[in-house]
Amino acid sequence: MELLKKKIVEEGVVLSDQVLKVDSFLNHQIDPSLMQEIGRAFANRFRESGVTKIVTIESSGIAPAVMAGLELGVPVIFARKRKSLTLQDDLYTEKVYSFTKKEESEVSVSRRLLSPIDRVLLIDDFLANGEAALAMARIVEQASANVAGIGIVIEKAFQNGNSKLKEKGYQVESLARIASLKSGFVEFID
Ligand code: 5GP
Repeated sequence: MELLKKKIVEEGVVLSDQVLKVDSFLNHQIDPSLMQEIGRAFANRFRESGVTKIVTIESSGIAPAVMAGLELGVPVIFARKRKSLTLQDDLYTEKVYSFTKKEESEVSVSRRLLSPIDRVLLIDDFLANGEAALAMARIVEQASANVAGIGIVIEKAFQNGNSKLKEKGYQVESLARIASLKSGFVEFID
């Protein structure tokens, strides 16, 4: 997606060979019109996939997921990282190792929000080693529902997330694929 690549080049900050910071449009401040385009791009790629629900993880996945949900006309669930007082009902819970925080945490979704008839599109802001996406997929499996596909805003293709997800047979669609962050520069695939 050319608009997204342009934004990454203009506003992304390369923190290391492994980490890109995009706080000005995705991870802290949000660019609503870019998010709308991102939602359209995901919808175009998954329109024929029979998606009934979208699942993401709070908080940075929410904006692109909501825009995709708006375009596809389906509800959006964000997995909660902390169990809140209002989330005391039965939960599907999975462990996820955070690439950026270097620690394990748990994500939960209320059992009443997913059912075996659901075809779930998983959306996340970044794909690194695939831990977040795999945790979401395990939640979908716990509900005996199906993964319709995985939509990623920014994939770091030099890490192994994409191959892990494809090995499991999932359709992975990334809107920007980064080949390298070496020497402070963002190099894209394509
Ligand atoms: P994975 O679970 O695929 O290893 O890592 C993806 C998750 O880690 C995303 O949900 C995202 O929040 C975070 N993440 C991974 N790499 C980056 C990065 O380079 N920049 C930012 N901002 N987040 C990242």
